[in-house]
Amino acid sequence: MNDPSPVLGSTDIPPDIALAERLFDELRHRTSDIRGVTRMSYGPGEEIAHAIARREAEALGLGTEIDAACNLYLTLPGQTDAPRIVIGSHLDSVPKGGNFDGAAGVLMGLSVLSGLVAAGRVPPWPITVMAIRAEESAWFSASYIGSRAAFGRLAAQELDTVVRAGDGVTLRQAIALAGGHVDDVALGCGHWAPDDVAVFLEPHIEQGPVLASKDMPLGIVTNIRGSLRFRRAVCRGAYAHSGTTPREVRRDAVLAVSELVAELDQAWRRLQEQGKDLTVTVGEIATDPEEASFSKVAGLLRFSLDVRSNSLATLDEFAIELKSIAATIENDRNVSFDFGPRTSTTPARMHPAVIAGLRQSADEARQPVLDMPCGAGHDAATFAALDVPTGMLLLRNENGSHNPDEHMDINDFSAGAEVLMRFCLSPPDIPK
Ligand SMILES: [Zn+2]
Repeated sequence: MNDPSPVLGSTDIPPDIALAERLFDELRHRTSDIRGVTRMSYGPGEEIAHAIARREAEALGLGTEIDAACNLYLTLPGQTDAPRIVIGSHLDSVPKGGNFDGAAGVLMGLSVLSGLVAAGRVPPWPITVMAIRAEESAWFSASYIGSRAAFGRLAAQELDTVVRAGDGVTLRQAIALAGGHVDDVALGCGHWAPDDVAVFLEPHIEQGPVLASKDMPLGIVTNIRGSLRFRRAVCRGAYAHSGTTPREVRRDAVLAVSELVAELDQAWRRLQEQGKDLTVTVGEIATDPEEASFSKVAGLLRFSLDVRSNSLATLDEFAIELKSIAATIENDRNVSFDFGPRTSTTPARMHPAVIAGLRQSADEARQPVLDMPCGAGHDAATFAALDVPTGMLLLRNENGSHNPDEHMDINDFSAGAEVLMRFCLSPPDIPK
């Protein structure tokens, strides 16, 4: 790896950007919705995207494999059989989402492999492009389904308890319908072990405004925030007449949740002032349309809570705050909170040697890059949690993500692909 010769040759090999442009167009065309694209996890749109990736890999003569959970692996052999570089991301999307979230990572990997094939170049290490299943938790209320299954880390019970939003299909049924071997998934038979992967790289569009606001095309992720989530929280009070019920006896769910949200906001502010990384979001809140009315005190309110941080300790600290604030409000307002099922993901650090390798490749490509934390969850967190040396390259995105207006400039994509090409041709020494 310290042999400088691959570096000298690397500038000659351009990634195949035309291939990526063609496939972005085909994906958009074949998975379009009323607005944007819809590629449901283990559903028709994701199936189309996987078929396209597989078809292109076969045309390039790459090795193709599919695991028990239907993740797809497209491999170009290297000069050694040693652990491989894996470039991966997901091909599902949120409903009516953008065309680049997830797909950019897979197509960037394919553009690198296609460039190498065209140049007849054998990379130092094998390179596998991985199309990962079911990353978008808009469909199944579990995180990182495909990447965990690849390592045999999907809990068997999740297959039956996790159901898809909208159609109620269980994860077990969805994997089986897609042609997967669900019994092997349940038994924890993964595609590989963490040691089989030398480096995992996930290129992804940024899902916030930071790169665009700083006029930077590329970012290198330092860490990925973990989360603490309650998707189906309920506050129960009592319905009552709005004109006849005195303040003292009201059990008003709207006021209780309003107070909870305001108190959580204060807790967030306090923790942030102590220098702690945190985001707190109540994204959904609703009275019961069957029972609530203009002239009634609300007896029930449903809401969601999404808390994220770089630090597990901060997430734990916030969970304790949440419990204590809720208990005080329950007591003061004679209501009860039921936060429902709790899901969580662990914060993940990107590997310093991978970060340094990406920066070196960016320097060689004369591409400015910004070091930044990543607020959105990604499959890279699964790899990092298993101690696979992991890195993420973010691409500037003008209009936010999880919406049809999400935008990626193909020149930024091309810059990212060049960085990736250089990294693959001259991988850094990575102490484990
Ligand atoms: Zn994504």
